[in-house]
Amino acid sequence: MATKYLLQCECGKEIPVEAARSGETVLCQCGKGIEIPPLRVLKTLEVAPQRQRRSDEPTGWSRRGARILLCSLFTIAMIVLTAYLYQTRPRPTNIDGLSPSGSWRLWMYYRNRVSYQPSKVENERVARVKAYRQRILISSSLVGVGILGILLSAILTRDDRPKKVRRIRRTAPPGG
Ligand SMILES: [Zn+2]
Repeated sequence: MATKYLLQCECGKEIPVEAARSGETVLCQCGKGIEIPPLRVLKTLEVAPQRQRRSDEPTGWSRRGARILLCSLFTIAMIVLTAYLYQTRPRPTNIDGLSPSGSWRLWMYYRNRVSYQPSKVENERVARVKAYRQRILISSSLVGVGILGILLSAILTRDDRPKKVRRIRRTAPPGG
């Protein structure tokens, strides 16, 4: 950002001007036009405090970076959730842990596959497996959504930073 010097108007207002614009006339809020003096005069004036950023100059990269960061955090959260769901998934029936009647029904099931009546506990397990499958399908889909979000943020917002507009420099008369 070019250094700006504070040009004082008769009304007392200070107008920040760039040295590159010397020779041009700036208009004060009071309506008076002031000619910007040459650099050697400007250099004797007070330097205007640098503003962080002009409001009409959006922070392209940081907005894009924020989007990517947000999508990354979301993706990580969904990966953690998926991993947690997988770790706590309902395990298959442990034959060693079955009650004698359960073992008997399971044996009957494998023997003739018709007379098997699943117990309440087994029905609950089936329901848990069903719920687990739904949840892990959703969470892994959300991982995909997050990754897609990262990619889209990286690709689509590449050009959201405004292109630099070159100011047409007016040549000051030599020495003047
Ligand atoms: Zn003025």
